[in-house]
Amino acid sequence: MITSKNPYTGEVIEEFKEYTKAEVDNAIQKAYDRFKTWRKLSFSEKSKLLKNAAKELRDNKKTYAEDITKEMGKPISQSLAEIEKCAWVCEYYAENAENHLAKEIIETDAQKSYVSYEPIGVVLAIMPWNYPFWQVFRFAAPALMAGNIGLLKHASNVMRSANNIQKVFERAGFPEGCFQNLVISSSKIENILKDKRVKAVTLTGSKPAGSAVAATAGSEIKKSVLELGGSNALVVFKDANIAETVKTCVQARFQNTGQSCIAGKRLLLHETIEEEFMDEFVKQVRELKSGDTMDEDTFIGTLAREDLAEDLEKQIQDSVKQGAKIVLGGKRDKTYFEPTIITKVKKGMPVFDEETFGPAIGVTTFKEDQEAIDLVNYSDFGLGVSIFTEDFEFAEKIVPEFEDGAVFVNELVKSDPRLPFGGTKISGYGRELSSHGIQEFVNRKTVYFN
Ligand code: NAP
Repeated sequence: MITSKNPYTGEVIEEFKEYTKAEVDNAIQKAYDRFKTWRKLSFSEKSKLLKNAAKELRDNKKTYAEDITKEMGKPISQSLAEIEKCAWVCEYYAENAENHLAKEIIETDAQKSYVSYEPIGVVLAIMPWNYPFWQVFRFAAPALMAGNIGLLKHASNVMRSANNIQKVFERAGFPEGCFQNLVISSSKIENILKDKRVKAVTLTGSKPAGSAVAATAGSEIKKSVLELGGSNALVVFKDANIAETVKTCVQARFQNTGQSCIAGKRLLLHETIEEEFMDEFVKQVRELKSGDTMDEDTFIGTLAREDLAEDLEKQIQDSVKQGAKIVLGGKRDKTYFEPTIITKVKKGMPVFDEETFGPAIGVTTFKEDQEAIDLVNYSDFGLGVSIFTEDFEFAEKIVPEFEDGAVFVNELVKSDPRLPFGGTKISGYGRELSSHGIQEFVNRKTVYFN
């Protein structure tokens, strides 16, 4: 049985019977058969269905959002915003996929030569619980428009949301088999990925999961895209607009109760602005409202599972043993973790070296600009970095120095259907979203007429 449990109330919401081997096989066959007709649909036919999906999401926003909140403890206002964003990504690809996949004419000796972007078939999507709808839709909207078929293996604690997502596509009128949720545990993934009818895999999740899945995909010579963890830095240079930067940093770290791969987890402050920045930062974090996850005013919810809260507590305690200082929060009650600020953080401490997945931020100061860049790049992760400065010329100059997949200036790192999203180093490879994302799972076919 796979169980969904409300991390705020502790009650079991629903139990799901795992698919048998025959049920999994049946789903793969349905997906494989559907591809034969789905790939032939015009962009306008697919676009109509994806717009229906956007409408279905908006029409039943409250129901879908409430299930997200119940399953993983995200405050309801943020679950509602997540559903809205999914509707946006559907509309965006309904409108733009055709352009992203237009034939690319290349002048050669041929009468005509070009690259044609064609679908590859059934793609397995392995997804995490932190944005249970968004992570899936940012894969599914472009993949379906490209003519591919989606098979979902969602995180075990959000199976109701996973079923809801399948429902969205069914209600939107997608033909049977276009998008199916597999109710399975992760031990079943290897065999599914080895199945000839499954052509590629995308995984959003942790490094151990990514490396296991990529190893199987590699052994089968199948394409994989990995969106893994992050430990983004928020770098505040001495000329930054402090009032605006504090507000952005609070959002960057504490939204989604800190459970985001692209959250700003390491705050790097120029030593001359430390005092002014910290006075305001601590004040604003102290004011964040914790409470009932179904209350519209709650900003800090619970962590999704108690073991995640335990892990975070250990990372903080071990850092304190090495000399870090808790200036706010630091305590937990079951799945609830107080918004926490830790200062005197240095390289080698868990809150600097590892990914912290909850409402806690480590603060480190620097003297020289180059020192800040080196501290950012010291991380094994490479999803993104935010830098705060009023000097755009300086910002442009240092952008190439960062090893990350994204640099945001005076803004938190965020995903946007129009921009590519993805990491470097142990944060993974490949891109989602934009023309770059939609072209990950296509055959870039070279065509030559003599
Ligand atoms: P996780 O434990 O890696 O789980 C992610 C998915 O992988 C789940 O569906 C999980 O299924 C499955 N899985 C786990 N172990 C596996 C294995 N050995 N082989 C195959 N599949 C496996 O990650 P999580 O705790 O759900 O999510 C948190 C992590 O995701 C963080 O590191 C976070 O930074 C990262 N993340 C990255 C991005 C990004 O875009 N880069 C976005 C969001 C989150 P079960 O639940 O059944 O184990």
